[in-house]
Amino acid sequence: MSYIALYRKYRPKNFDDVIGQKVVVEILKNSIINNHISHAYLFNGPRGTGKTSIAKIFAKTVNCLDNSNGNYCGNCEMCKNLEVNDVDIIEIDAASNNGVEEIREIRSKVKLVPTVAKYKVYIIDEVHMLSTGAFNALLKTLEEPPAHVIFILATTDMHKIPLTILSRCQRFDFKKIDSEEMFAKLKEICTLEKKEISDNVLRLITKLSDGGCRDAINLLDQVISLSNDNITEDEIYDLQGRVSEKTIIEFLKSICDNEVDVGMKLIDNFVTTGKNLNTIVDELLILLRNISLAQNISSYFAEEEKKVYLTFDLSIDIIKEMTRILLELSSQIVKSNNQKNLFEIYYIYLIHTVNKDVYLDNNVDRIANINNVNYNDNTKNKKDNNVNESKIIDIDSFRKVRINNCFVTANKEFLNKVNKDYERINDFIANKVYNNVAALLLSGKIVVASNEYLLFDFEDKSLIQVFMSNIKKIEKLLFEIYDINFKVVCVTNDEWIMLKNDFISNKKNNISYEFIPETNIEVKESKTSFEDVTSNIFGEDVENIN
Ligand SMILES: [Zn+2]
Repeated sequence: MSYIALYRKYRPKNFDDVIGQKVVVEILKNSIINNHISHAYLFNGPRGTGKTSIAKIFAKTVNCLDNSNGNYCGNCEMCKNLEVNDVDIIEIDAASNNGVEEIREIRSKVKLVPTVAKYKVYIIDEVHMLSTGAFNALLKTLEEPPAHVIFILATTDMHKIPLTILSRCQRFDFKKIDSEEMFAKLKEICTLEKKEISDNVLRLITKLSDGGCRDAINLLDQVISLSNDNITEDEIYDLQGRVSEKTIIEFLKSICDNEVDVGMKLIDNFVTTGKNLNTIVDELLILLRNISLAQNISSYFAEEEKKVYLTFDLSIDIIKEMTRILLELSSQIVKSNNQKNLFEIYYIYLIHTVNKDVYLDNNVDRIANINNVNYNDNTKNKKDNNVNESKIIDIDSFRKVRINNCFVTANKEFLNKVNKDYERINDFIANKVYNNVAALLLSGKIVVASNEYLLFDFEDKSLIQVFMSNIKKIEKLLFEIYDINFKVVCVTNDEWIMLKNDFISNKKNNISYEFIPETNIEVKESKTSFEDVTSNIFGEDVENIN
């Protein structure tokens, strides 16, 4: 005997078999019992919630000669006829033929009386996919439907259906299947199939199918065919090409706890096991949504689940910002030739966003170390201040200093030389240590160079912070390539245009830039955003010039 997919095998045979759509079924049954049949119905709702199944049951029942209890009998002449010859129940999938032709054919045949049945029933699946021409043809038929014709239009996207059509249909809204009902259905199927699947697995299938019965039963079918007694959660996620929530939680934890090593290993793992990185972005977004739901609606999740989500101490502002970054990544990653690197850059950006304070402290520390400047360790500084009379500046000002020095030392010939070898960065794209900064540098370009300083220009504003957080690593990579200890800094494209114009006009007016040594400055935690810097990138100097 050939194998029948579980979903087809357990498709509801009559209204009483249907799960999850009590209201819809009740109304349809009553309309049959009371003989109040419309000529056009619209079944609206998510995929796999029973629209087509119910449409077929309705088509059979409405034709049955003994349907006084609202179900077809299966024994009368009509039921038996339809069993062998269902030419009067016509299914059209608008998704596969959005065709005017199809609907025109309906129009030409619709006047003919049914071959065997009382009613000719047209079931048009995914009706929102019809072309405008087809909708117009359909509308003409709906305006004057013959008495023996019933249209059932099914859709997952009601908003794409013209109002002129909607207004002629009796509308039914299908709901996602309740998880308890779904669970019971899956359990029942397991019993009938004589398969033992643990409740935990069935619960997970229920959760993953998100209210779609077809998806749930198909997934159960796959799980059964694994013929493995101890199916793990990960295997079930694998079947769907997804990553388990447990893993996504671990990944988010690495972001929150600033554990780059853990996160990088997970990313490697996603890639080597062939996971779609965009799916990971989606899963992160779902997790963030669940966390904020758990924070705001205490009864939304079961206690166990809630506890897991509430272990994350993320403010709504941070969640909002992370969501923005992830959506940006999601739109960028599909266009990228090197998805892994882009994903890693954004991963670091997320860490930076969540751990702003910690990160800035580290930066201040590190930048200070590189340049032998003092940093704002309060107790130590007071003393050092008196001794060295060093100037305290924030990271933005530090950036200004470097940008200034880039211009002071700028050398056109050197720029050409540096740019000639710039593509050697490509050699580091697959390098374990430098791959992410290499990818970062390749998305920008060097616009000012000297034998001491390099100024990078980035189209993408968000990369400025990533760059500033990775200065040390960038400088090491550049040393590998050029064998020169460059000091680097970066600007956005808007800033660059403005700076360049300023530089040109200052040169014309014989206003020169003065070199600012980095040895006698202190870097303190940044308070201003980089946007504020744009208008005043040279601080007091610019004010003096203007
Ligand atoms: Zn019958």
